[in-house]
Amino acid sequence: MEEEKQGAPEKSNAATPETKTEPVAATEPFQQNAEMQKTPEGDFIDEKLRLYYEINLEAPNKIARREFGFGFQKKIDIRHKAFANLQELSRFISTYSPRFISYSSAIYNFPAARPIERKERLGVELIFDLDGSPRNEKCGHKKSAGTLFCKKCLENVRQDAITLKEDFLISEFGFKKEEIWQKFSGSKGFHIHIQNEKAMELSSNARRELAFYISASELGAQNFLKREEIAKRKFKYSGPDSTSKGWKGRLHREMKRLLLASDFSQMKRFISKRDAENISKNPVHYINELDNGNWGIFSKPESTIQKFVDRKKKEIGIEVDASVTFDLHRLIRLENSIHGDTGFVAKKIEDNLFPEFDPTIHALPFKKGETTIIPNDEIKIEFQNQSFRLEGGKRTEVPTNLALLILCKKRGKLA
Ligand SMILES: [Zn+2]
Repeated sequence: MEEEKQGAPEKSNAATPETKTEPVAATEPFQQNAEMQKTPEGDFIDEKLRLYYEINLEAPNKIARREFGFGFQKKIDIRHKAFANLQELSRFISTYSPRFISYSSAIYNFPAARPIERKERLGVELIFDLDGSPRNEKCGHKKSAGTLFCKKCLENVRQDAITLKEDFLISEFGFKKEEIWQKFSGSKGFHIHIQNEKAMELSSNARRELAFYISASELGAQNFLKREEIAKRKFKYSGPDSTSKGWKGRLHREMKRLLLASDFSQMKRFISKRDAENISKNPVHYINELDNGNWGIFSKPESTIQKFVDRKKKEIGIEVDASVTFDLHRLIRLENSIHGDTGFVAKKIEDNLFPEFDPTIHALPFKKGETTIIPNDEIKIEFQNQSFRLEGGKRTEVPTNLALLILCKKRGKLA
Protein backbone atom coordinates (compact mmCIF):
# COMPACT_ATOMS: atom_id res chain seq x y z
CA MET A 1 0.00 0.00 0.00
CA GLU A 2 1.27 3.39 -0.92
CA GLU A 3 1.70 5.93 1.79
CA GLU A 4 2.19 9.58 1.14
CA LYS A 5 3.74 12.01 3.50
CA GLN A 6 2.02 14.93 1.90
CA GLY A 7 -1.41 15.57 3.29
CA ALA A 8 -0.94 13.00 6.02
CA PRO A 9 -2.57 13.95 9.27
CA GLU A 10 -0.37 15.89 11.61
CA LYS A 11 0.50 14.16 14.80
CA SER A 12 -0.11 16.10 17.93
CA ASN A 13 2.59 16.08 20.54
CA ALA A 14 0.22 16.96 23.29
CA ALA A 15 -0.16 14.17 25.79
CA THR A 16 -3.79 13.12 26.15
CA PRO A 17 -5.29 16.59 25.90
CA GLU A 18 -8.65 17.10 27.42
CA THR A 19 -11.44 16.55 24.96
CA LYS A 20 -13.46 19.65 24.45
CA THR A 21 -17.11 18.98 24.09
CA GLU A 22 -19.59 21.72 23.48
CA PRO A 23 -22.09 21.59 26.29
CA VAL A 24 -25.41 20.48 24.93
CA ALA A 25 -28.16 22.68 26.28
CA ALA A 26 -31.44 20.88 26.62
CA THR A 27 -33.19 23.80 24.98
CA GLU A 28 -30.87 24.03 21.99
CA PRO A 29 -33.22 24.67 19.11
CA PHE A 30 -32.92 22.59 15.99
CA GLN A 31 -34.57 24.39 13.15
CA GLN A 32 -34.84 21.19 11.17
CA ASN A 33 -36.69 19.39 13.88
CA ALA A 34 -39.01 22.28 14.65
CA GLU A 35 -40.00 22.55 10.98
CA MET A 36 -40.89 18.89 10.74
CA GLN A 37 -44.59 18.43 10.48
CA LYS A 38 -45.98 16.38 13.30
CA THR A 39 -47.83 13.31 12.10
CA PRO A 40 -49.00 10.23 14.00
CA GLU A 41 -46.58 8.19 11.88
CA GLY A 42 -43.69 10.52 12.72
CA ASP A 43 -44.54 10.31 16.43
CA PHE A 44 -44.70 6.52 16.17
CA ILE A 45 -41.27 6.35 14.56
CA ASP A 46 -39.78 8.75 17.14
CA GLU A 47 -41.26 6.72 19.98
CA LYS A 48 -39.94 3.42 18.60
CA LEU A 49 -36.48 4.90 18.09
CA ARG A 50 -36.51 6.22 21.66
CA LEU A 51 -37.47 2.79 23.00
CA TYR A 52 -34.77 1.13 20.97
CA TYR A 53 -32.03 3.55 22.05
CA GLU A 54 -32.90 3.25 25.73
CA ILE A 55 -31.21 -0.14 25.74
CA ASN A 56 -29.35 -0.57 22.46
CA LEU A 57 -27.17 2.48 22.01
CA GLU A 58 -23.48 1.65 21.69
CA ALA A 59 -20.45 3.90 21.64
CA PRO A 60 -17.98 3.73 18.77
CA ASN A 61 -14.40 3.21 19.88
CA LYS A 62 -12.67 6.42 21.01
CA ILE A 63 -16.08 8.07 21.38
CA ALA A 64 -14.64 11.23 22.96
CA ARG A 65 -12.41 11.79 19.91
CA ARG A 66 -15.21 11.53 17.34
CA GLU A 67 -17.29 14.22 15.75
CA PHE A 68 -21.00 13.34 15.61
CA GLY A 69 -23.66 14.37 13.15
CA PHE A 70 -27.42 13.93 13.34
CA GLY A 71 -30.19 13.96 10.82
CA PHE A 72 -33.86 14.72 11.24
CA GLN A 73 -35.05 15.16 7.69
CA LYS A 74 -31.79 14.74 5.82
CA LYS A 75 -29.08 12.23 6.72
CA ILE A 76 -27.07 14.98 8.40
CA ASP A 77 -28.69 18.22 9.51
CA ILE A 78 -26.26 19.13 12.26
CA ARG A 79 -22.66 18.13 12.89
CA HIS A 80 -19.62 19.21 14.94
CA LYS A 81 -21.12 17.61 18.04
CA ALA A 82 -18.95 15.73 20.50
CA PHE A 83 -19.62 13.62 23.58
CA ALA A 84 -17.30 12.62 26.36
CA ASN A 85 -19.01 9.27 26.84
CA LEU A 86 -21.97 7.08 26.00
CA GLN A 87 -24.16 8.65 28.70
CA GLU A 88 -23.80 12.10 27.14
CA LEU A 89 -24.58 10.75 23.69
CA SER A 90 -27.55 8.88 25.07
CA ARG A 91 -28.92 12.01 26.76
CA PHE A 92 -28.65 13.94 23.51
CA ILE A 93 -30.45 11.23 21.55
CA SER A 94 -33.31 10.86 24.00
CA THR A 95 -33.76 14.66 24.02
CA TYR A 96 -33.77 15.24 20.26
CA SER A 97 -34.78 11.88 18.74
CA PRO A 98 -32.67 12.08 15.58
CA ARG A 99 -33.60 9.78 12.70
CA PHE A 100 -29.96 9.34 11.68
CA ILE A 101 -26.82 9.12 13.81
CA SER A 102 -23.35 9.39 12.27
CA TYR A 103 -19.82 9.81 13.54
CA SER A 104 -16.51 10.78 12.02
CA SER A 105 -14.19 8.19 10.54
CA ALA A 106 -11.53 10.60 11.84
CA ILE A 107 -10.42 11.00 15.42
CA TYR A 108 -9.59 14.49 16.63
CA ASN A 109 -8.12 16.29 19.59
CA PHE A 110 -11.08 18.67 19.55
CA PRO A 111 -13.91 16.96 17.66
CA ALA A 112 -16.46 19.75 18.26
CA ALA A 113 -14.16 22.59 17.23
CA ARG A 114 -14.87 24.63 14.12
CA PRO A 115 -13.75 25.20 11.49
CA ILE A 116 -12.51 21.72 10.71
CA GLU A 117 -8.81 22.71 10.84
CA ARG A 118 -9.18 23.50 14.54
CA LYS A 119 -10.30 19.96 15.33
CA GLU A 120 -6.66 18.74 15.05
CA ARG A 121 -6.98 15.46 13.20
CA LEU A 122 -5.09 12.53 14.72
CA GLY A 123 -5.95 9.83 12.22
CA VAL A 124 -8.74 8.47 10.03
CA GLU A 125 -10.20 4.99 9.89
CA LEU A 126 -10.08 3.40 6.46
CA ILE A 127 -13.66 2.70 5.39
CA PHE A 128 -15.26 1.36 2.23
CA ASP A 129 -18.90 1.98 1.45
CA LEU A 130 -20.58 -0.49 -0.87
CA ASP A 131 -24.12 0.28 -1.86
CA GLY A 132 -23.94 -1.39 -5.24
CA SER A 133 -26.39 0.97 -6.91
CA PRO A 134 -25.02 1.05 -10.47
CA ARG A 135 -24.80 -2.70 -10.92
CA ASN A 136 -28.15 -3.12 -9.28
CA GLU A 137 -29.83 -1.26 -12.10
CA LYS A 138 -29.80 -4.62 -13.84
CA CYS A 139 -31.95 -6.14 -11.13
CA GLY A 140 -35.57 -6.28 -12.21
CA HIS A 141 -36.99 -5.41 -8.81
CA LYS A 142 -38.11 -1.94 -9.84
CA LYS A 143 -40.51 -3.46 -12.33
CA SER A 144 -42.05 -5.82 -9.84
CA ALA A 145 -44.62 -3.72 -8.04
CA GLY A 146 -44.72 -3.68 -4.29
CA THR A 147 -41.08 -4.55 -3.58
CA LEU A 148 -40.10 -2.98 -0.27
CA PHE A 149 -36.65 -4.47 0.05
CA CYS A 150 -34.70 -6.36 -2.62
CA LYS A 151 -32.72 -9.33 -1.34
CA LYS A 152 -31.23 -9.95 -4.77
CA CYS A 153 -29.65 -6.51 -4.83
CA LEU A 154 -28.26 -6.98 -1.36
CA GLU A 155 -26.79 -10.33 -2.40
CA ASN A 156 -24.83 -8.62 -5.20
CA VAL A 157 -23.39 -6.13 -2.75
CA ARG A 158 -22.54 -8.88 -0.27
CA GLN A 159 -20.56 -10.76 -2.94
CA ASP A 160 -18.65 -7.55 -3.67
CA ALA A 161 -17.99 -7.01 0.03
CA ILE A 162 -16.65 -10.53 0.43
CA THR A 163 -14.39 -10.13 -2.62
CA LEU A 164 -13.20 -6.78 -1.28
CA LYS A 165 -12.31 -8.31 2.06
CA GLU A 166 -10.74 -11.53 0.89
CA ASP A 167 -9.16 -10.74 -2.48
CA PHE A 168 -8.12 -7.15 -1.90
CA LEU A 169 -7.86 -6.21 1.77
CA ILE A 170 -6.47 -9.49 3.09
CA SER A 171 -4.72 -11.20 0.15
CA GLU A 172 -3.45 -8.17 -1.66
CA PHE A 173 -3.02 -5.37 0.89
CA GLY A 174 -2.09 -7.65 3.76
CA PHE A 175 -4.57 -6.52 6.41
CA LYS A 176 -5.35 -9.07 9.08
CA LYS A 177 -8.78 -10.63 9.23
CA GLU A 178 -9.18 -9.36 12.81
CA GLU A 179 -8.57 -5.79 11.69
CA ILE A 180 -11.58 -5.77 9.41
CA TRP A 181 -15.19 -5.57 10.47
CA GLN A 182 -18.42 -4.92 8.66
CA LYS A 183 -21.82 -3.48 9.24
CA PHE A 184 -25.06 -3.29 7.33
CA SER A 185 -25.61 0.29 6.15
CA GLY A 186 -29.23 0.16 7.30
CA SER A 187 -30.42 0.52 3.72
CA LYS A 188 -28.96 -1.22 0.66
CA GLY A 189 -25.37 -2.09 1.38
CA PHE A 190 -22.47 -2.64 3.71
CA HIS A 191 -19.66 -0.63 5.24
CA ILE A 192 -16.26 -2.25 5.66
CA HIS A 193 -14.11 -0.74 8.44
CA ILE A 194 -10.40 -1.36 8.84
CA GLN A 195 -8.83 -0.82 12.20
CA ASN A 196 -5.14 -0.61 11.47
CA GLU A 197 -2.75 1.98 12.86
CA LYS A 198 -0.87 2.46 9.58
CA ALA A 199 -4.06 2.79 7.58
CA MET A 200 -5.17 5.54 10.01
CA GLU A 201 -2.40 7.72 8.59
CA LEU A 202 -3.10 7.32 4.87
CA SER A 203 -3.54 10.56 2.98
CA SER A 204 -6.70 11.38 1.10
CA ASN A 205 -4.88 10.79 -2.21
CA ALA A 206 -3.66 7.36 -1.15
CA ARG A 207 -7.23 6.45 -0.15
CA ARG A 208 -8.57 7.71 -3.46
CA GLU A 209 -6.04 5.53 -5.30
CA LEU A 210 -7.08 2.50 -3.26
CA ALA A 211 -10.76 3.03 -4.04
CA PHE A 212 -10.09 3.56 -7.75
CA TYR A 213 -7.81 0.53 -7.88
CA ILE A 214 -10.45 -1.69 -6.27
CA SER A 215 -13.16 -0.53 -8.65
CA ALA A 216 -10.69 -0.74 -11.56
CA SER A 217 -12.36 2.38 -12.87
CA GLU A 218 -9.13 3.76 -14.32
CA LEU A 219 -7.38 0.55 -15.36
CA GLY A 220 -6.69 -0.15 -19.03
CA ALA A 221 -4.38 -2.16 -21.33
CA GLN A 222 -1.47 0.18 -20.50
CA ASN A 223 -1.54 -1.06 -16.89
CA PHE A 224 -1.17 -4.68 -17.92
CA LEU A 225 0.77 -4.99 -21.14
CA LYS A 226 4.44 -4.33 -21.93
CA ARG A 227 5.52 -4.12 -25.57
CA GLU A 228 9.12 -4.71 -26.63
CA GLU A 229 10.54 -4.59 -30.13
CA ILE A 230 12.63 -7.74 -30.44
CA ALA A 231 13.32 -7.44 -34.17
CA LYS A 232 12.33 -5.02 -36.85
CA ARG A 233 8.54 -4.60 -36.56
CA LYS A 234 8.40 -7.71 -34.42
CA PHE A 235 7.09 -7.23 -30.91
CA LYS A 236 7.02 -9.19 -27.73
CA TYR A 237 3.95 -8.64 -25.53
CA SER A 238 4.33 -9.43 -21.84
CA GLY A 239 1.29 -9.38 -19.64
CA PRO A 240 -0.11 -10.99 -16.50
CA ASP A 241 1.22 -14.50 -15.87
CA SER A 242 0.56 -17.38 -13.50
CA THR A 243 2.51 -15.68 -10.68
CA SER A 244 0.76 -12.29 -10.97
CA LYS A 245 -1.08 -10.90 -8.01
CA GLY A 246 -3.89 -8.39 -7.62
CA TRP A 247 -5.74 -7.23 -10.70
CA LYS A 248 -3.04 -8.75 -12.93
CA GLY A 249 -3.58 -12.11 -11.28
CA ARG A 250 -7.31 -11.73 -11.65
CA LEU A 251 -7.03 -10.99 -15.38
CA HIS A 252 -4.67 -13.91 -15.96
CA ARG A 253 -6.97 -16.32 -14.12
CA GLU A 254 -10.05 -15.11 -15.99
CA MET A 255 -8.38 -15.40 -19.41
CA LYS A 256 -7.01 -18.83 -18.57
CA ARG A 257 -10.46 -19.96 -17.52
CA LEU A 258 -11.81 -18.81 -20.85
CA LEU A 259 -9.13 -20.70 -22.78
CA LEU A 260 -9.61 -23.84 -20.68
CA ALA A 261 -13.33 -23.79 -21.32
CA SER A 262 -12.71 -23.18 -25.05
CA ASP A 263 -15.86 -21.15 -24.91
CA PHE A 264 -16.01 -19.90 -28.46
CA SER A 265 -18.94 -17.54 -28.06
CA GLN A 266 -17.32 -15.88 -25.02
CA MET A 267 -13.88 -15.69 -26.64
CA LYS A 268 -15.24 -13.96 -29.74
CA ARG A 269 -15.91 -10.88 -27.64
CA PHE A 270 -12.23 -10.33 -27.01
CA ILE A 271 -10.27 -12.02 -29.78
CA SER A 272 -10.50 -12.49 -33.51
CA LYS A 273 -12.29 -15.43 -35.02
CA ARG A 274 -9.01 -16.77 -36.38
CA ASP A 275 -7.37 -16.58 -32.95
CA ALA A 276 -10.29 -18.44 -31.42
CA GLU A 277 -10.06 -21.16 -34.03
CA ASN A 278 -6.33 -21.61 -33.47
CA ILE A 279 -6.81 -21.75 -29.72
CA SER A 280 -9.53 -24.35 -29.91
CA LYS A 281 -7.18 -26.59 -31.97
CA ASN A 282 -4.42 -26.58 -29.35
CA PRO A 283 -5.57 -24.99 -26.09
CA VAL A 284 -2.75 -26.50 -23.98
CA HIS A 285 -0.10 -24.64 -25.96
CA TYR A 286 -1.89 -21.32 -25.58
CA ILE A 287 -2.48 -21.84 -21.88
CA ASN A 288 1.20 -22.59 -21.31
CA GLU A 289 2.17 -19.42 -23.15
CA LEU A 290 -0.36 -17.40 -21.16
CA ASP A 291 1.00 -18.85 -17.90
CA ASN A 292 4.39 -17.46 -18.96
CA GLY A 293 2.88 -14.04 -19.59
CA ASN A 294 3.04 -14.22 -23.39
CA TRP A 295 -0.01 -12.28 -24.56
CA GLY A 296 1.52 -12.17 -28.06
CA ILE A 297 -0.41 -15.37 -28.70
CA PHE A 298 -3.29 -13.11 -29.67
CA SER A 299 -3.07 -11.35 -33.02
CA LYS A 300 -4.12 -8.02 -31.49
CA PRO A 301 -2.85 -8.14 -27.89
CA GLU A 302 -3.64 -4.51 -27.03
CA SER A 303 -7.23 -4.54 -28.11
CA THR A 304 -7.76 -8.02 -26.68
CA ILE A 305 -6.56 -7.03 -23.24
CA GLN A 306 -8.36 -3.67 -23.33
CA LYS A 307 -11.67 -5.32 -24.19
CA PHE A 308 -11.02 -7.93 -21.55
CA VAL A 309 -10.24 -5.33 -18.87
CA ASP A 310 -13.34 -3.31 -19.72
CA ARG A 311 -15.48 -6.40 -19.46
CA LYS A 312 -13.90 -7.80 -16.32
CA LYS A 313 -13.94 -4.60 -14.33
CA LYS A 314 -17.68 -4.50 -14.81
CA GLU A 315 -17.93 -8.08 -13.63
CA ILE A 316 -15.37 -8.22 -10.86
CA GLY A 317 -14.56 -4.59 -10.07
CA ILE A 318 -15.99 -3.60 -6.72
CA GLU A 319 -18.44 -0.74 -6.78
CA VAL A 320 -17.40 1.48 -3.91
CA ASP A 321 -18.49 5.02 -3.16
CA ALA A 322 -14.94 6.42 -3.38
CA SER A 323 -15.79 9.67 -1.59
CA VAL A 324 -16.55 7.81 1.64
CA THR A 325 -13.03 6.38 1.49
CA PHE A 326 -11.06 9.50 0.59
CA ASP A 327 -13.01 12.22 2.40
CA LEU A 328 -11.09 12.60 5.64
CA HIS A 329 -13.95 14.47 7.31
CA ARG A 330 -16.68 12.08 6.38
CA LEU A 331 -19.36 11.08 8.86
CA ILE A 332 -20.50 7.48 8.71
CA ARG A 333 -23.56 5.80 10.19
CA LEU A 334 -23.15 4.71 13.79
CA GLU A 335 -23.11 0.94 14.12
CA ASN A 336 -26.26 -0.48 15.64
CA SER A 337 -28.16 2.78 15.18
CA ILE A 338 -31.44 2.84 13.28
CA HIS A 339 -31.56 4.09 9.69
CA GLY A 340 -34.44 6.56 9.58
CA ASP A 341 -35.46 5.73 6.02
CA THR A 342 -35.94 2.03 6.70
CA GLY A 343 -36.21 1.35 10.42
CA PHE A 344 -33.48 -1.27 9.94
CA VAL A 345 -30.58 -1.38 12.38
CA ALA A 346 -27.17 -0.56 10.88
CA LYS A 347 -26.06 -3.76 12.45
CA LYS A 348 -22.47 -4.63 13.16
CA ILE A 349 -22.13 -8.12 11.64
CA GLU A 350 -20.03 -10.95 13.03
CA ASP A 351 -17.82 -12.63 10.40
CA ASN A 352 -19.59 -15.97 10.66
CA LEU A 353 -23.03 -14.40 10.13
CA PHE A 354 -21.95 -12.24 7.18
CA PRO A 355 -22.56 -14.81 4.40
CA GLU A 356 -26.15 -15.31 5.50
CA PHE A 357 -26.92 -11.90 7.00
CA ASP A 358 -30.48 -10.93 6.08
CA PRO A 359 -31.74 -7.54 7.29
CA THR A 360 -35.34 -8.76 7.35
CA ILE A 361 -34.24 -11.21 10.05
CA HIS A 362 -31.00 -9.87 11.54
CA ALA A 363 -31.33 -6.07 11.41
CA LEU A 364 -34.61 -5.67 13.25
CA PRO A 365 -34.85 -3.36 16.25
CA PHE A 366 -37.51 -5.23 18.23
CA LYS A 367 -37.92 -8.82 19.36
CA LYS A 368 -41.71 -8.68 19.44
CA GLY A 369 -44.76 -6.51 18.99
CA GLU A 370 -47.54 -6.02 16.46
CA THR A 371 -48.87 -2.82 14.91
CA THR A 372 -51.92 -2.23 12.73
CA ILE A 373 -51.29 -0.23 9.60
CA ILE A 374 -52.96 0.62 6.29
CA PRO A 375 -50.59 0.27 3.33
CA ASN A 376 -50.94 2.84 0.53
CA ASP A 377 -50.62 0.16 -2.12
CA GLU A 378 -49.81 -3.53 -2.40
CA ILE A 379 -46.73 -4.67 -0.51
CA LYS A 380 -44.99 -8.02 -0.97
CA ILE A 381 -42.13 -8.96 1.27
CA GLU A 382 -40.39 -11.86 2.98
CA PHE A 383 -39.95 -10.60 6.52
CA GLN A 384 -39.06 -12.35 9.77
CA ASN A 385 -39.19 -15.64 7.84
CA GLN A 386 -42.78 -15.05 6.79
CA SER A 387 -44.31 -14.09 3.44
CA PHE A 388 -46.41 -10.96 3.53
CA ARG A 389 -48.74 -9.81 0.82
CA LEU A 390 -50.49 -6.71 2.07
CA GLU A 391 -53.40 -5.18 0.22
CA GLY A 392 -53.41 -1.43 -0.39
CA GLY A 393 -55.95 0.46 1.72
CA LYS A 394 -56.70 -2.48 4.01
CA ARG A 395 -56.13 -2.47 7.79
CA THR A 396 -53.60 -5.14 8.59
CA GLU A 397 -51.77 -6.20 11.72
CA VAL A 398 -48.09 -6.76 11.04
CA PRO A 399 -44.95 -7.16 13.19
CA THR A 400 -43.92 -3.76 14.58
CA ASN A 401 -40.56 -4.11 12.79
CA LEU A 402 -42.38 -4.35 9.46
CA ALA A 403 -44.72 -1.47 10.37
CA LEU A 404 -41.62 0.61 11.05
CA LEU A 405 -40.17 -0.22 7.62
CA ILE A 406 -43.45 0.60 5.86
CA LEU A 407 -43.93 3.89 7.74
CA CYS A 408 -40.29 4.95 7.35
CA LYS A 409 -40.59 4.29 3.62
CA LYS A 410 -43.85 6.28 3.60
CA ARG A 411 -45.69 3.36 2.07
CA GLY A 412 -48.54 3.34 4.56
CA LYS A 413 -50.25 4.93 7.55
CA LEU A 414 -51.12 3.90 11.07
CA ALA A 415 -54.64 2.49 11.32
ZN1 LIG B 1 -33.09 -5.60 -6.79
